[in-house]
Amino acid sequence: MDLELAGKRAVITGATKGIGLGVARAFAREGADVVIVARSQASIDDAVAGISKDFGTIATGVAADVATEAGCADVLAHVAALGGCDILVNNAGTGSNETILEAGDDKWLEYWNLHVMAAVRLARGLVPQMATRGGGAILNNASICAAQPLWYEPIYNVTKAALMMLSKTMSTEFIPMGIRVNCINPGLVRTPDWENTARELSGEKWEDYLQSVADEHASIKRFGTVEELADFFVFLCSPRAAYSVGSTYFVDGGMLKGL
Ligand code: NDP
Repeated sequence: MDLELAGKRAVITGATKGIGLGVARAFAREGADVVIVARSQASIDDAVAGISKDFGTIATGVAADVATEAGCADVLAHVAALGGCDILVNNAGTGSNETILEAGDDKWLEYWNLHVMAAVRLARGLVPQMATRGGGAILNNASICAAQPLWYEPIYNVTKAALMMLSKTMSTEFIPMGIRVNCINPGLVRTPDWENTARELSGEKWEDYLQSVADEHASIKRFGTVEELADFFVFLCSPRAAYSVGSTYFVDGGMLKGL
């Protein structure tokens, strides 16, 4: 299937490793140019070099903390200098581990800025120019925790649920401009983040730990791969998914236990 993405430009936040890097590579494989956003310049350089070498499409990067207003402004300036973009994937995010009684306001605001305000600030800057290019797509990466909370990460659950609602709300406002907004809620996806957590908790038996997590939570009894998720992202951002507007898609190996 031709996804009709050749010549499009996609901005992906959190794209130097894990899901974001997989999504950036999947876009490049389809012939799209990509803009890699993360905080570490060295990681950006590696990701950009790898994509350019493997796919020959144009990859650029911008080192920015999207949890800050200044970081989002840097992303907007970079994209404007390129002439705009057609696709935005809000993927940068991370788990939390404080309880409600432990966490101060600063923690709540930190995650609110990363999971919600980054998407708001980038949309405010990018949507008008996406519209002048004829429309496009925004895809927000929330989490299964937006709908089925994990007890140990309340701030993550709440801010990802907000991102899911933001997606629905954005979709209504932006569709008259030809911009489709959707949300993906992944379940367990094997990324460096998960592997590091497993090593911290279980040392040498970290692979066994990951299997026990999959056995407990996912009907399919395994983690998903980054590639399995990335293909779904790319399809939803492509013109082939033209009728998908304001929806949330679970890619979770059967983890969600409710309707
Ligand atoms: P990783 O930790 O593997 O990668 C995170 C990426 O985001 C890195 O490129 C990191 O680079 C970047 N990043 C983190 N914070 C910021 C920031 N403030 N500004 C800009 N870039 C940032 O994460 P995953 O691939 O595991 O997860 C990606 C997304 O998917 C997250 O939103 C997560 O909540 C969601 N998700 C993941 C699941 C999983 O099982 N892995 C399941 C459900 C949802 P740098 O540190 O250099 O900034």
